[in-house]
Amino acid sequence: MKTDKKILIIGGGTAGWLTALYLTKTFPQHHITLMESKPIGILGAGEGSTPHLTSFLHMLDVDLQELLKECKGTIKQGISFENWNGDGQKYFHPFAVHNEYKHFSIDNLFSYDSYDYYLKHLIHKKMPLKDHTYASIQSYKNVVDTNNIDTSIHFDAHLLADYLKKITKVDKHIYDEIKTTKQDEHGNITKINDIECDLVFDCTGFRRELIGKLYKSEWKSYQDCLPIKRAIPFFLPPEDKPYTQAIAMKYGWVWKIPLQHRCGAGYIFDSDYITDEEAFAEAKEMFPNIEYTRTIKFDAGRFKQTWIKNCIAVGLSSGFTEPLEATSIWMATEQLKLLETFIDVMFTNDEDTKKDYNEVIANNNDMVMEFLHYHYMTKRDDSPFWKEFKKKNVLAKFNAKLEQIQKGNLRWYHTTGGKLTSTFNLMSWLHVGEGQGLIKDISIEGYENLNPTVEEYGRHLPR
Ligand SMILES: Cc1cc2nc3c(=O)[nH]c(=O)nc-3n(C[C@H](O)[C@H](O)[C@H](O)COP(=O)(O)OP(=O)(O)OC[C@H]3O[C@@H](n4cnc5c(N)ncnc54)[C@H](O)[C@@H]3O)c2cc1C
Repeated sequence: MKTDKKILIIGGGTAGWLTALYLTKTFPQHHITLMESKPIGILGAGEGSTPHLTSFLHMLDVDLQELLKECKGTIKQGISFENWNGDGQKYFHPFAVHNEYKHFSIDNLFSYDSYDYYLKHLIHKKMPLKDHTYASIQSYKNVVDTNNIDTSIHFDAHLLADYLKKITKVDKHIYDEIKTTKQDEHGNITKINDIECDLVFDCTGFRRELIGKLYKSEWKSYQDCLPIKRAIPFFLPPEDKPYTQAIAMKYGWVWKIPLQHRCGAGYIFDSDYITDEEAFAEAKEMFPNIEYTRTIKFDAGRFKQTWIKNCIAVGLSSGFTEPLEATSIWMATEQLKLLETFIDVMFTNDEDTKKDYNEVIANNNDMVMEFLHYHYMTKRDDSPFWKEFKKKNVLAKFNAKLEQIQKGNLRWYHTTGGKLTSTFNLMSWLHVGEGQGLIKDISIEGYENLNPTVEEYGRHLPR
């Protein structure tokens, strides 16, 4: 039996259809309408993800095998960071491992789940993580292992939106654009065009029609910490790799995502230093056969409030850091899952409780922003971009953390934000810190009794 509650989703990109899929499965009792605009279309960029997307889809009973087939997808086991110190070297940021590849204890202290100490032992012994961690070794050998690695997927962005549309049964699906918006005396949206609504999801991408233009939520810019603001996407021939490549360039970096029929790639750069033409020329030096398609412009940042009155922004409409580490769709799924904690205020004017929702979402994004900023602490100095980036001392809180990291004092609480929110865990911080050469040494004093030892464990690693 349906209630009389009407939910309206504006936007039919990945965020809009993920929202629709989630709502139709979680709140089937409400009427759900999705409106999208054919002439505006979808962004169609963003083809990498994290294991949070696969577990989200799994939770919603999506057939991942079918999805991979229809979206020409491939399995992703992590990201290979290449040339970030300008020395031609690479390091791997793998997704988590489980089963026998995860279990370590520190005798007498921790009886299980001490994988972070395994990584610390490796760093202490100057044994490169990429050569001594299961997911990195297998990935660089192009071996896919969905049994022992928390895998995710690469996909064609347009095909994913089409697939989600096909499997999601909304009550009404309309092709139209927002023309008129009606609000009640409290400021809640009651009608968009002629569609009545009690709750609206703004999934309008970079246009941010409701949360930005209508409600004028305050913008928090991340540009000082994440100065990259343009992307030129292009296609490359397909490759058989179970990972994304992130290749550092003079003014930013190139992403390379292997799909079944092509690699989706693009140069993402700081346009304060180079023009689109110069950026494309730099990319063409590396990939001579590429063709120019378009330039995507964006501002790294987020809205301070992503839930205002009866409007919740999900996806790019709520903010965007940048493509490094493929976090945007992950953050969208976090926004949706968090709703379960706020069901009691979904249809009320309880602005106080919504403040908590906004704070958690803001903290999640700030934690991601810090982690991405961390990747730019490289030794590259082959352009004014890299030289000046290092001199910018903008994030006082982060710099204090970085100092601790460089001293080898990285601990779990460094990876949490306010309200104990956490995005990237200690393992991720260790992988990137070691890979970038930021962590010179790390103390294992008092934690020597690792079981198994790195040598014993090493005997079981594939070579
Ligand atoms: C260069 C680049 C690389 C990226 N790489 C990744 C990645 O690897 N991994 C990742 O997770 N994310 C990535 N992202 C982000 C990713 O693209 C988005 O998270 C994802 O595509 C979701 O977008 P969206 O649905 O919010 O917006 P869109 O795809 O732009 O969809 C917006 C929808 O709103 C509709 N709309 C807009 N205005 C109106 C209106 N007035 N009336 C009606 N409908 C309207 C549009 O028609 C469209 O259907 C990347 C982004 C960029 C820019």
